[in-house]
This record gives sequence, structure tokens and C-alpha cells, in this order.
Amino acid sequence: MADPAECTIKVMCRFRPLNSSEVARGDKYIPKFQGEDCVQIAGKPYHFDRVFQSSTTQVQFYNAVAQRIVRDVLEGYNGTIFAYGQTSSGKTHTMEGKLHDADMMGIIPRIVQDIFNYIYSMDENLEFHIKVSYFEIYMDKIRDLLDVSKTNLSVHEDKNRVPYVKGCTERFVCSPEEVMDTIDEGKNNRHVAVTNMNEHSSRSHSIFLINIKQENTQTEQKLTGKLYLVDLAGSEKVGKTGAEGTVLDEAKMINKSLSSLGNVISALAEGSTYVPYRDSKMTRILQDSLGGNCRTTMVICCSPSSFNDAETRSTLLFGQRAKTIKNTVSLNVELTAEQWKKKWEKEKEKNKTLKNSISWLEKELTRWRSGESVPAEEQFDKEKAKAEVKALDSALSDKTAWTPGLSTTPGLKLTDAEKQKYETEMTKLYKELDDKDDELNQQSHLVEKLKQQMLDQEELLASSRRDHDILQTELNRLLAENEASKEEVKEVLQALEELAVNYDQKSQEVEDKTKEFEALSEELNQKSSSLASIDSELQKLKEMTNHQKKRVTEMMSSLLKDLAEIGVAVGSNDIKESSGLIDEEFTVARLYISKMTSGVKAIVKRSKQLESSQADSSQKMEETERELTAFLIMCHLPVLPFDNLQNVEQKKRNLEETVDSLNEEIVRIRAQEKVNAMEKENEIQSANEVKDAVEKQIQSHRETHQRQISSLRDELDSKEKLITELQDLNQKIVLEQERLRVEHGKLKAADQEKSRQLQELTVSHDRREQARQDLKGLEETVARELQTLHNLRRLFVQDLGTRVKKDSDDTESSAAAQKQKIVFLENNLEQLTIVHKQLVRDNANLRSEIPKLEKRLRATAERVKALEAALKEAKENAVRDRKHYQQEVERIKDAVKPKNMGRRPSAQIGRSTLIHAQCHIMTLKSQISDTLLRTWLKWLWSG
Ligand code: ADP
Ligand code: MG
Repeated sequence: MADPAECTIKVMCRFRPLNSSEVARGDKYIPKFQGEDCVQIAGKPYHFDRVFQSSTTQVQFYNAVAQRIVRDVLEGYNGTIFAYGQTSSGKTHTMEGKLHDADMMGIIPRIVQDIFNYIYSMDENLEFHIKVSYFEIYMDKIRDLLDVSKTNLSVHEDKNRVPYVKGCTERFVCSPEEVMDTIDEGKNNRHVAVTNMNEHSSRSHSIFLINIKQENTQTEQKLTGKLYLVDLAGSEKVGKTGAEGTVLDEAKMINKSLSSLGNVISALAEGSTYVPYRDSKMTRILQDSLGGNCRTTMVICCSPSSFNDAETRSTLLFGQRAKTIKNTVSLNVELTAEQWKKKWEKEKEKNKTLKNSISWLEKELTRWRSGESVPAEEQFDKEKAKAEVKALDSALSDKTAWTPGLSTTPGLKLTDAEKQKYETEMTKLYKELDDKDDELNQQSHLVEKLKQQMLDQEELLASSRRDHDILQTELNRLLAENEASKEEVKEVLQALEELAVNYDQKSQEVEDKTKEFEALSEELNQKSSSLASIDSELQKLKEMTNHQKKRVTEMMSSLLKDLAEIGVAVGSNDIKESSGLIDEEFTVARLYISKMTSGVKAIVKRSKQLESSQADSSQKMEETERELTAFLIMCHLPVLPFDNLQNVEQKKRNLEETVDSLNEEIVRIRAQEKVNAMEKENEIQSANEVKDAVEKQIQSHRETHQRQISSLRDELDSKEKLITELQDLNQKIVLEQERLRVEHGKLKAADQEKSRQLQELTVSHDRREQARQDLKGLEETVARELQTLHNLRRLFVQDLGTRVKKDSDDTESSAAAQKQKIVFLENNLEQLTIVHKQLVRDNANLRSEIPKLEKRLRATAERVKALEAALKEAKENAVRDRKHYQQEVERIKDAVKPKNMGRRPSAQIGRSTLIHAQCHIMTLKSQISDTLLRTWLKWLWSG
């Protein structure tokens, strides 16, 4: 019989050691332990049923905390162990630990071991039925971990109004290994369904339920015990994790169940009449564990690090609040008929006494109210009332054979028909309730699906909005670029106009210069003609000089002859006789000589005059020459186009050479003249010296000429350099163009590669579809085979039955043989059963595989679709961008061309502008290809 007993929730506190990253960070170890049940944080003490230090081993913890629970559950009590605490405070370490490591395993595997050890040591008459369930609560949805297709289970109440998870898979187990296998399966399913297990486990509550039913085959006494083992989600605050979006939703949901757990605990601790169990599924499932019929232990797990100081304190406070909750535990017994009868009679007795008391009290009350005073001996007395009832009972039992069915209470008078009716009504109501639940489930599924769809749509919308934004910014950028390039083109045009003006000025200048040049050449011609005339004059003078020389010589020779004649005349005649005659003749001779001297002097004077005039003319010539050269250097060269440069050079060189030769000749003539003059004057000066001077002059002329030539050559070199630079620039442009072409090719190749990948994905998708079909076929075959096996088995059992029957009718002689046969058949049956079980398991496995595969398939299909869309859009973008780029190029070309055509001569500057424009086009090109590439990459990643 149930024996209600009040007991508080036991709260155990466990601190884990500092982990490596906390040690590395240099965190302080904050808890200070005082005795076995107190821990101090920053001087504030917190008391619990027990406090476990960081060094506590798994086995020590189990022995101190969980071992007792096994006995309780096997004795017919309910039990619950919670693990509460922030993420990575050691909840899972405490509840599960390393499942297959003897030292590091946590509470659950040890409980499983202990349950079976305990059962093995118990009375043989006890028959045990153990079943386990494993589920998790994530975002307030219950997901069966032993059947992944059950993703949103509901909570119902059984006929004793105890909540349970409806439709949850219950595995019957007969050994600890089977339980561990079940746990492994559940954990695997949990891992498969989520992407990041660590995150998931910190946001979901996992619940492992062990249900033990025992029946004493002798006394028929039935006991049941439920054990909930709960690993709660992390208790950290939303703010600390910086959660956003979905994560925030999750955090709210986790916090919802955790805060409703907190609210339930607060309500229970305060003893309030309303406890909000229905606020979350978790509190609803664990209703009995919190303030109900259950022996509950809460393990609060804490981090010892100073970094988690605030979280640790809040965890400790939560534990202290939970400590005050009182549960009322009672044995879960199913009573036998006899026990029920006894209980009924006891209750009836109680009822009668109470009724008698009430009528007595009512009577007394009316007497009091009517103003009468009731004497003490007539006032209500509990003992008297009891005695009265007993007396009445014995009197009645003497009179009539009182039957339990005829109670004084009218409500209890139920006929069988009524009972039946009520029962059918009740089953109908329960069925309706179930139907409603199913409907509710379906609706929630639908809601879920719609929500999912909505989320997908929202995501799609957001992504397209993002894309739109990106495109918008890209467009804006392009527009701005366009504006900028327009501006640039404008500038270029302006520059071109300026150039044209410049060019006009220059051509005007060139014209002026040409005119000047013509004038100068005219002057030169004049000078040369005057030179020629001077030359001819010189020639004439020379001739004259020669002539005079000749005359002088002739005169001299005639004079000499005369002298000789005189001498002869003097010698032959008598000198003495004619001395007067001789004197006369001498005087004549002296006269002649003086006449001759004056004639020579005149000639010398004339020759001097001629010399000076020649010097003048040569000076003039030199000046003209210099002017000419300067003019040629100044005006001709820079203006002349490049191809004429060589010609001009040649011409100039020729001119210079002729000038040089002319100069040389002049000098030579002058020298000759000098020599002549000197000879004439009979002055002492050697002709060689004069010649040297002439040579020197020629040398100096040559040098100046050389210098001029070298300066001209330098200029020529600089021009050539300019030409090479321009050629280099051109080369660079060509290279850039080549590079762009290569890039374009690459982009094209990438495009092809993507299309190929898409094709591959489509093929793999088809293949998966095929595999799915195959799987379905396989499943069907397995199901069919199972069915036939089942039929065979049934037939076999029937056959066996009839044979056994027949055999028993047969004679005893063949009994031994028959027995052997039966044993053989039984063996066969056993083997078949094993095979059957195996097949069932395989089938279940395959079934569990299907949704995963389907999910993957769906994801692949979606990805393929997204990729296709992305590819299409990228292609469109590429085409649009290319068109835009071409238009841009055309426009710029058009803008530049007409300006260029009209002003060919300003080739250099025009060319540089063109190059500038080309460079700009090239940058535009590269930018566009960049954009294309970026869009591509983005689609790839987002795909
Ligand atoms: P939770 O489940 O609360 O998020 P875990 O149980 O996963 O935290 O613990 C986080 C880490 O700390 C694990 O690597 C675990 O092995 C370690 N750990 C937790 N408690 C202890 C302990 N008492 N002794 C040693 N290591 C522990
Ligand atoms: Mg965990």
C-alpha cells in the first residue's frame, strides 16, 4: 500500500577542475570548501546536501549521489536526477561521462549496471519488465532519439493524471548491454540530426527514462518505478553569449524552459497554490519530479573559474532555492482485489464517522444560532461520535446483511449498465482526446512546415535584397565611373581644343619663320653673289697685280739694259772728256728710279686697300654664315617633322661643308695675297709662317664645325630616345590588351567549368533519386519477406500445435522420438525468431536511414537549383556588363576620333591623349572583369 512520505529535493553541488584554457588564461580558482556541505564564493557561504570538490572521481560521486536511487526505483518509487549548470560546467560529464570507459563513465551507465546487478540478486519470484526511452527537448519540441521520424511529440496525462510523453519509443531491454546500445543509438541519432553537436547539446535538454515494472509471481503484487535522468541545457544568460537572430530565438526557448523550471521551483519553494508546470514541455514532463511523487536529486554543476564567477553564483542560488522544495513520495503499487476491498472498507468507515460528525455539528450549530446554549455534555466530541457510529454499525449488522454496494451515498449506486455506459463514454472521450492530440500534432507539424517555409522565403528575400543592394551599389559605382570618365573625356576634349589652338599658333609661327628663312636665304644669295663679285674683283686685282709685276719686271729689265748700255758707252768713250755728260745721265737715272719707287709705293698702297676690303667682305661673309646657321638651328629643326629631319640634316651638312670650303679658299687666297705683298715689299717675313697661320685658322673653323655637328647629333639622340619611349608605351598597351584577352579566356573557362559541375550535380542528383527508388524497392521486398516469414512462422506454430495434440493422442511408444523432434523444431523456431528479430532491426535501421537520405537529397536538389539560378544570373550580369563596357568604349572612341582627325600634326600630344584614353578604357575593362569575377565568386560561395 502506498505510504506517502514528505521529503525535500536533494541538491548536490559539484565543481569541475579548471580546464586548460582557463589555466592558460590565468583564471583564479574561486570556491573555498568548508566541510562536506558548504562552499564559499567571495566569502558568501552556500549550503547544500553535499558539495563535491574538483578532485571527486566519477565513482565517488556516483556512490554518494546516485546509488541509493537505484534501490528506490527497484522498490517502487519514482526517481529523478537533474544536472543543472552553465555550458561546459560538467553536466554531461556527470550524467554520461565516457560511456564505455570504466573509470570515466558517469551516472547513467553506472545506474544501468547497478539496476541489473540488483535484479540478479533479488527474489526469484520477482519478474521484471524494463523499458527505456530517450528523447531530447529542443526549442520546446520533444524529439524521439530512438526514432528520428518523431520530431514533435506531445505530453499527455495517464489515468492517474501523471504526465507522460505520448507515442515515444519504448525499448524493452534485458541486459545492461542492450541499454548501452540503446543509448549509443540515441546519441548517434542526435549527432546525425545536427551540424554542430557542441552547440546543440548546450541548447537542448536530453532525457533518458528507465521504466521498471516488477511483479511478484506469488503474491501478484505489482510495483512500478520511473527514473528520469536529465541533462539540462546550459543555464548561461542570453547576453553573455551575444546571441542574435535564430540563436536568440533558441536562447529564448532554452531560457523559456529553463526559466519556467525556475518559476516552478520558485512557486514550489514559496508554497504557492498555482505552479506553472504547463509553461513548458519540460516542466510538464517533470511535473512529478518537482513537488510530486518522486525522489529527486539535483546536481548543480559549477565552474571554479573566476571568469565564470557570476554564472556560478546564479547556479548556486538556483540550487539553494530548489533545496526547499518538498516532494511527497509514495510507493507505486497496483493493488490486488483483496487489497482494494480492504481499502474501500476503511474509507467507508472514515466516511461514516465524518458524516455523523457533520450532522452532530450542524444540529449544535442550529441550536446555537437560535440563541439556545448547548450544555457541555451535549457539545460535539470526536470520540463520542466515533463510538456512536460503531454502535450503530453493530446494530445494523445485526439487523441486516449489509452489502458494500448499498452505500448511503447516492452517487455510488451505479448499476452495471450504467458502469458500462460510463466506461464506454470514458473510452470514447479518451479516444477523442487522442484524436485531438493527433490533430494538434498534425497542425503543429503543418505550422512547423509553414514556419520553415516562411523562414526559407524570408531568407530568400533577404538574400535577393542583399543581392539587389550589391547590384545597386555596383550600378552606382559604374554610374559614378561613367560620370568620371565623361568628365575625363570632357577634359581630354578641352585639352585637345587647347592643343588645336596651340597648334594654330605654332603653325603661324612656323609660317613666320619660313618667311624669315626665305628672307635670310635671299640675303644669303645676295651675299654669295656679292662674294662672287668680290671674288671676281679679287681676280681682276690679281691679274692687275700680275700685270703690274710684269711691267715692273719689264721696266727693271729695260732700266738694267739702259744701265748696261750706259756703262758700255762710258767704258768705250773718254770718260775724262765727257764728265758733264755722265752727270747728266746719272740725274736722268735718278729721276727714273724715284719715278719707279713712287710707282711701287702706289701699287703697295692699292694692294693694302684691296686687302682691307677683302677682310671686310670675309667678315661680312662670316656674319652671314653665322646668322644662317643660327637661323637654321633656331627655326628649322624643331618644327620640321621627324621624317624630314634626316634630309634637313644632310642639306645643312652640305651647306656647311660648302661654307667651310669657301672659307678655306678665302683664307688661302688671302694668304697668297699676303705672300705676294710681302714679296713685293721685300720685307723680311718668311712665307712659311704665314702658311702656318692659315692652317691654324682652318683648324679653328673645323673645330667649330665639329662642335655644331656634335650638338646636332645630341639633339638627334634625344629625339630618338623620345621615339623609343613612345614605342615602349605602345608595346605596353599591346601587352595589357593581351593580358585582358587572356583574362577573358580564363573567365570563359571558369564558366564552362561551372556548367560542367552543374551537370555533374544533376547527374548525382539523378543517381540519388535512383538509389532512393532502389531503397524503397528493397524495403518493400524486406517487408514482403518479413510477411511471408511471419506467415510461415504462424503456420509452423499451428502445425506444431496440431502435431503435439496428435502426438499426445498417439501411443506412448513413439514419445521419445517425438520429443526429440519437438526439441529439434523448437531449436528451429528459436533460430527463426532470431532471424526475424534481425530482419526487424535491419528494417528499422533502413527506415531510420530514409529520412536522412531524403533530407540530403532535398538539400542537394535545392543546392542544384540555387546553383542553376546563380549561374543564370551571373551569365546575364556578364552579358550586361560586357555590353555596357563595349558601349562605353565605343563612345569614348567616337568622342576622341573626330578631334584627332583634324589635328594630325600635333601627333605627339594627340597621341598621348589617345594613350591616356586607352589607359582609361583598359582600367574600365579590368574593373568590369573584376566585378564579373567577384559576382561569380560570390555566387559560388553562397551556393
Ligand atoms: P556541459 O555538459 O555542462 O556543457 P561537459 O560535461 O561537456 O559540460 O564538460 C566540459 C568539459 O569539462 C569536458 O571536456 C569534460 O570532460 C570536462 N569536465 C567536466 N567536469 C569535469 C570533472 N569533474 N573532472 C574532469 N573533467 C571535467
Ligand atoms: Mg553537455
